[in-house]
Amino acid sequence: MSTSLTASEITPYRGRFAPSPTGPLHAGSLVAALASFLDAKRAGGAWVLRIDDIDPPRAVAGSVGQITEALSAHGLHWDGAVRYQSQSSDAYHRALQQLAETGTLFRCRCTRSTLSDQGTCGQRCEQHAISDEEPHSLRVNFDSAQLAGFADRFQGMQPVTPEKTVTDFIVRRRDGLFAYQLAAAVDDAQPHFTHIVRGADLLDSTHRQRWLMQLLGQTSPCYGHIAVIRDIDGNKLSKQNGAPALDLARTADNLRDCLTHLCQPAPPKSARENDEILDFAIAHWTLHP
Ligand code: GLU
Repeated sequence: MSTSLTASEITPYRGRFAPSPTGPLHAGSLVAALASFLDAKRAGGAWVLRIDDIDPPRAVAGSVGQITEALSAHGLHWDGAVRYQSQSSDAYHRALQQLAETGTLFRCRCTRSTLSDQGTCGQRCEQHAISDEEPHSLRVNFDSAQLAGFADRFQGMQPVTPEKTVTDFIVRRRDGLFAYQLAAAVDDAQPHFTHIVRGADLLDSTHRQRWLMQLLGQTSPCYGHIAVIRDIDGNKLSKQNGAPALDLARTADNLRDCLTHLCQPAPPKSARENDEILDFAIAHWTLHP
């Protein structure tokens, strides 16, 4: 009988679920939470809850409480204290300084009307001197030829092609707030996390975040992107599209629906409690490219 361990069994696995506090959890976010939870628990690893609260204008009061309540109600208990990106500003500042030293950072004065169709700088701002006083964002040049592709655990090989990437992107916004790509790259790199499991709508972001990690000399975690839930019009279920909050009176059914979406075997009907459903799901968790 073979006693060899798989890579995930010997790696000190650290995974996370990282919602933005923009409203209550909906079915789409529960799928991401559940997939990352099952993957971590199957590997005997830690599952951390990180609140991505770096965008105060978009934050909705009370949503952190709603999110933690909904996770707990579904039996998705995180390890350790909740982490908040708003407490990592120093690390993001340091990362910006480090990026400046790599020569890839530039000031951009573009507004919506002067951006390119891809959302990149549309007026060669890099070649102009932009003073501290003039409103500007900070962008990073993205040289896709210098970034290797990666093997997504669930989606297969993800090459970096010019069509899939952009020539530059924002790391600090015009309003002075840190951009999601920067914060995610700083916080997701190893050793913070070894494995990231999240929705496939973020695949393009993953190239940007891996690029930033490379510039910052950090090791990328392993990525696995899962299919997102779409509404009947084909749009990703999201708070912006008005996805309804999860009904906490039917948590076991919510878990079963998510497992169906994730193509996992159905727990036996006799499993009524959330813990029984989750134990079954952990024992049977498998996702292939
Ligand atoms: N806060 C982001 C979101 O909710 C994080 C996504 C991620 O990197 O997992 O979309």
